[in-house]
Order: sequence, then structure tokens, then C-alpha cells
Amino acid sequence: MKYISEFRDKRVAAALAAALTREVDPARAYSLMEFCGGHTHAIFRYGVQDLLPPNVNLVHGPGCPVCVLPIGRLDMAIELAEIPDVILCSYGDMLRVPGSRKRSLLKSRAQGKDVRMVYSCEEAIRIAQQHPEREVVFFAIGFETTTPPTAVAIQQAHKLGLKNFSVFCNHVLTPSAIQSILDSPDVRKLGTVRVDGFIGPSHVSTIIGSRPYDYFSREYQRPVVIAGFEPLDVLQAIRMLVQQLNEGRAEVENQFTRGVTHQGNLKAQNIVADVFELRRTFEWRGLGVVPYSGLRIKKKYAEFDAEVRFPMTQKPVHENHACECGAILRGVKKPTDCKIFGTVCTPQSPIGSCMVSSEGACAAFYKYRRHEILIDGTPPGADTLESDAAVAR
Ligand code: SF4
Repeated sequence: MKYISEFRDKRVAAALAAALTREVDPARAYSLMEFCGGHTHAIFRYGVQDLLPPNVNLVHGPGCPVCVLPIGRLDMAIELAEIPDVILCSYGDMLRVPGSRKRSLLKSRAQGKDVRMVYSCEEAIRIAQQHPEREVVFFAIGFETTTPPTAVAIQQAHKLGLKNFSVFCNHVLTPSAIQSILDSPDVRKLGTVRVDGFIGPSHVSTIIGSRPYDYFSREYQRPVVIAGFEPLDVLQAIRMLVQQLNEGRAEVENQFTRGVTHQGNLKAQNIVADVFELRRTFEWRGLGVVPYSGLRIKKKYAEFDAEVRFPMTQKPVHENHACECGAILRGVKKPTDCKIFGTVCTPQSPIGSCMVSSEGACAAFYKYRRHEILIDGTPPGADTLESDAAVAR
């Protein structure tokens, strides 16, 4: 398949890995953060880390939209679904994320609430047209990739004159999260997380372009290489980062030239700018409150804003004390540092958000590498290891 099979070629991967090994300086360490959960998934799925010299370390970043939503915002969605006549529409993964007090949208649905899984915001619009007597709310999450479709849906609802459709907006911004990581005590003061460079997200960057990352190379002296999601994309990006670090450069480079430009998709950016504006602050799971990192619906579309339409407040909630999602999202810990990984917390029965989405580090580790750890002498979920391996092949 064009643009897929040639980016999964084993011989090219071996040659690329060999070239990288020759270029890596054995006297230094390289610590590279892949921001995006799509890259985390690809790294685990294709065993990219195994192809790297031991002094090239990959740190998993917070770029999984399901993982970074704080429990308080999920609780708000669960409470929305409890309002009589509300149909709450959401992407599938969000249904399984545990909220506070052992609640989830899936459990709400089992208890009779009208919670529907949709594949797009457009589907929620159709449901609103089919049920004019009900209130249809789309629970919108995600980075810059999923923001334009939500904006289009709001414009469409406006044009159609829909009176029973609204959006609970939780869209967040990648550059603000990167800045938060670079400014965090873990990176700046404590040194518990070392980030020498970033593998930048490709899908997000098709929308925002490579331009927003210039700031990080200039102000923080960290190289950024925007990479596609196939294994050769990731390997090549790692090699480009290693070359930059060896040469003392901190530049923004674009490995994913087949999809990303410097300016990005201006049409999509204009649609987003028409509908959304920056929130002064937004809470992220793991990163805490990050300034100017989330979007809200502009006043001119307020009738489609669920936070205006319904009485909603975000209440403070405590994370499950055993769950290390917050530290994993900051790159401070790995999934196996969590004491309940693979025992109490599994993809079938997730305790934290990182075990729900396939882009979450815990779910990726569980699916592809859990054979590396032993709990009471056997790998967790040993009965399903073989079938998972078959899927991976
Ligand atoms: S294994 Fe589960 S409980 Fe532990 S950090 Fe990951 S998601 Fe949270």
C-alpha cells in the first residue's frame, strides 16, 4: 500500500538503524521525547526502541487526548448524561475512562442514560436532527487534529438553525503542552526528566504547520523533528535528532514532508479561529493547570456551548492514589513503575486513562511488551499474549 508498506520495510529499517548506530556518540546519552501517543504506539508496536543503541532513550510524552483529560472534566460529561432528555455523544475510548467514584460513561449507559458512541461530530449533528425533542451534546476532546471537524460541526449547526445541539469543548493545544514540559520542575530544576529533543506529531502539524515549533528551538535550544507514524518515519526522525545534537544544532526539521508544511492548513486554521478562542487556563492530567492551553467556544456561537447551556462546574477530584498516569504523562515514570500495572489495571479493566486508549503508554506497553515483566512468575495476561502477538504480526 502506497505510503505504508515502503515505510515498514525491514531491510530499510535495518540499514537505517545501522547508520544511526554508527552516528551515535557512545560517550553521550540522547534522551528524546515523542510527544504524541501515535508515536508511542508505533514505537511499541514495531519495537523501535530495540533497534536503537542503548544510550538513545525514548521518553513517552503526554500526547494522548484521552489520557490528558482530567477526571474533573470527565465527571462533568458523566453529569451531563444524567440530565433528563440529554443524549451524550462521545468517541468510543472516552466511554471506558474511569471517572471519580468508580463512575464512567459506559456505566452511565448501563444504568440507562443515553450515551452514544460516535465516530465523528457530524454523526452527533445527525442525531440532533433525528431527535429535535432531545438535547444532543457532543463531548469534544483532542488536539489540533480533531478541532477543525468540531468547528465545522458548530458552523453547520448554526447554518441549519439547530436548537438542540451543543458541544462540551475540551480541545487542547500541543505547543502549550510542550512549553509546560520544558518549564516543568521535572525538566528544569530536578532533572528527573531529561529531554534533549522532541519527535513532533505529524497529524497535529498538518493543521498547525511546523512554524509553532520554531519557538522551542530558538528559546529552549531543543531540536524538533516532525515525524510520520510509520516505523521508518520514527527511525529517520530519531536519526535526524541525533545528527542535530551531534552538530550542536537546535532546529525544526520536517521528516513528514508528505503531509506537513511550514504554514500548515490555513483553511482549517481559519475555521478554528472563527469558532474557538483561547481559555486563560486549562487543566491537564499530569501537567496540571497550563496557561493558554485549551480552547473554548466564542460568544458568537454561545448557543452551541454546553458549558453555557447547562449548569456545569468542574469539581476538584483526587486521582486514584495507586495510579501513576500523571507521572507517566510527564515522562517521569514508565508504565512498569506502576504497582498495579497488569494486575489490577488492564485494558479490560482500566484504572487510569493511560490504559484505555491505544495511544496511552500503559495500553501500548501492555499490548506489546508485557511479556518482559513477570508477576508471580508469569507475564500479566499470559493467556492473551499469543493472540496479541498474532495481531501485531
Ligand atoms: S497501569 Fe493503570 S493505574 Fe497504573 S499508571 Fe497505568 S493506567 Fe494508571
